[in-house]
Amino acid sequence: MKIGIFGGTFNPVHFGHLRAAEEVAQSFLNKIIFIPTNLTSNKKTVALSAEKRMEMLNIAIKNNKKFEVSDIEIKRGGYSYSYDTIVQLEKIYSSDELYFIVGMDAYSGVKNWKNAEGIFDKINFIVVNRSNKKFSQKKLIKLIDFLPDKLKEGVKIDYKENKLITSKNKFIYFFKISRLDISSTVIRDNFKNNISNLFLLPNEVINYIINNKLYK
Ligand code: ATP
Ligand code: MG
Repeated sequence: MKIGIFGGTFNPVHFGHLRAAEEVAQSFLNKIIFIPTNLTSNKKTVALSAEKRMEMLNIAIKNNKKFEVSDIEIKRGGYSYSYDTIVQLEKIYSSDELYFIVGMDAYSGVKNWKNAEGIFDKINFIVVNRSNKKFSQKKLIKLIDFLPDKLKEGVKIDYKENKLITSKNKFIYFFKISRLDISSTVIRDNFKNNISNLFLLPNEVINYIINNKLYK
């Protein structure tokens, strides 16, 4: 089975995440596993408890057979590092193919992740565009710059497929999705300022946030 791993703080999950997952799944994956972080070292704002963020994910995906939520990072506790998660998931899904899904903003900071080089050696990436910062084929060369230094040298560009291929034969595939310019940051601000969030995230999640008085 082809499984996409989609990590994030999901504070809260919104249609930008869900639509990206849907389009990636429809094109080439059998299943997407959403993995909320426990603690995130690179986020300035203190995230909502991991349990509440996971609960909102569960509410959001409950009628979608291809989507799952994993508590693997929450159970592990402490700061969440993708490398550790991938090592764990590789053991659980040893007979499946795993793909790591990230938005372009996340990809552009990947160099600073713990053991970034090791992550790229282990797993293929699917990078989706965010908002109106689209990526063209011409930009493929520039996208090499975001890779950890040690990986840059051996990288080959497949212009036709919109892919970078590492010397370990793993790929980084830049996949164009419908652009939904939605972010959790804007949604949190809207809740705080009593501005409508209708049609930015599922109604059931909006209700959960209101009932639990989150983001006030
Ligand atoms: P915040 O504003 O708090 O940073 P966010 O909306 O960026 O929240 P994250 O939980 O940080 O959401 O993102 C998790 C993953 O989903 C990241 O890889 C991010 O790039 C991707 N992502 C988030 N929003 C979108 C979107 N609208 N379209 C495509 N990918 C997205
Ligand atoms: Mg973000």
